[in-house]
Amino acid sequence: MKVAEAIKYKYTVLGAGRSGLGAAKLLAGKGAEVFLSDSSPEDKLLYLLKEDLNKLNIEFETGIHSDKIFDCDILIKSPGIPPHSDIIKKAEIKGIKIFSEIEVAFWFCPCPVIAITGTNGKTTTTVLTGEIIRNCGFDVKVCGNLGLAFSEVVKSLKKNSFVVLETSSFQLYDTEEFKPDVSVILNLTPDHIDWHGSVENYFNAKLKINQNQKSGEDYFIYNYDDGYLREKLKSKKLNGTVNCFGFDGETILRNFPAGCYVKEGDLIFFNKNKNISETILNINEIKIRGRHNVYNSMAAVLSAKSLGIETGIVGKTLKEFTGVEHRIEFVRNIGGVEFYNDSKATNFESTYVALESFAGRIILILGGKKGVNNFSLIEEFVKEKVKLIISIGQTKDDIKKYFSEFKEVVVCDEMVDAVRKSFIRAEAGDVILFSPAFKSFDMFDNFEHRGNEFKKCVNSI
Ligand code: ADP
Repeated sequence: MKVAEAIKYKYTVLGAGRSGLGAAKLLAGKGAEVFLSDSSPEDKLLYLLKEDLNKLNIEFETGIHSDKIFDCDILIKSPGIPPHSDIIKKAEIKGIKIFSEIEVAFWFCPCPVIAITGTNGKTTTTVLTGEIIRNCGFDVKVCGNLGLAFSEVVKSLKKNSFVVLETSSFQLYDTEEFKPDVSVILNLTPDHIDWHGSVENYFNAKLKINQNQKSGEDYFIYNYDDGYLREKLKSKKLNGTVNCFGFDGETILRNFPAGCYVKEGDLIFFNKNKNISETILNINEIKIRGRHNVYNSMAAVLSAKSLGIETGIVGKTLKEFTGVEHRIEFVRNIGGVEFYNDSKATNFESTYVALESFAGRIILILGGKKGVNNFSLIEEFVKEKVKLIISIGQTKDDIKKYFSEFKEVVVCDEMVDAVRKSFIRAEAGDVILFSPAFKSFDMFDNFEHRGNEFKKCVNSI
């Protein structure tokens, strides 16, 4: 929507988190009439500053969603509110348009957008892509699901800036005109079914990243090795130039105009139209660990190359990029024992890729809030690579029960105890990996809090 048209409408913003506040301030700052409503009490709303809202004439309510929320043309919905909730259904019946915050921010965005989605790896790939573009000397804003909202950065963008946007299925679901210049789907496994209602809906929401892209202008990039994603995409008409990445170079070379693959350990980028085939670097030179990060790197390479970024800068960034905090983050080496913080591993798929990333001699600190016990997924790696398990949190006894048949499991009550015991048992050359596989809310506010506690304990040794 053109800015001049957008500001004529009357808006309600539901949810005063970062993205809701960002959208409300962006719209009000441009002169639109905005009402903000959040059902949480004011003291729980970390980012809400009354003075800011008053300055922009944004009317607001907290602790309730009154009927006033329906007095609008357009409702901007917090990603936390599912589409089947009563409020949204009622708004739809009243003919109110429902949009997400990224849709609104997009209307006001003057520069190219690189949007990255997928079930796993979004933050890492988004930050890495941003780093490559920054190293090329461009003004780039990295935002979206990872914290800073798109609508918060829009004001500071110029025509020659770039936005790299971590994009969730929740945000994509409520888009209409959102059109990235480059879009990426990293992978797809069934997730967030309670919100979307079905796997099909989840997939269709993700695919909205491509819905407005244009041939000759835009790029759609996906992971060819992800069989589930590939099958799902087969029956869809894709827009824009479709490029792929994966380990299997032959098929990608045959089927796509440009792509990225691995050949004898080298990461190769090719573009048939430009007659280019070049080695970016050897995958062993990529600083972030693990096969999953080779995929994330390939996605970032293709995104950067779609923008015409020079290969040397892409390779140099991959050699230097140390990753994002709490994702297999190297913490410290004490006498040859390396500590890694992987607190973001809140499920077994994540702990699996973390274990895959090390050759062996792992002391694994595992456990958290009770949830899905998919122990069998990591069983083979535990047998093959793990010396000892230290279990903590609500699931500490479940872990002991499952693994003690074939591995020693030491049960601990506190993080400090877990770190101390793991270090006492470690020898030079061992890796102490904190990759909990469960959510953090049994003992901590969130995974960041948990990771910081782990690091504090390690740094106090
Ligand atoms: P997201 O933002 O999608 O949650 P992150 O980059 O924060 O992704 O990574 C979260 C976790 O997901 C990582 O700790 C790792 O365990 C796992 N992960 C990251 N990238 C991938 C990938 N490409 N494939 C599978 N798992 C991945």
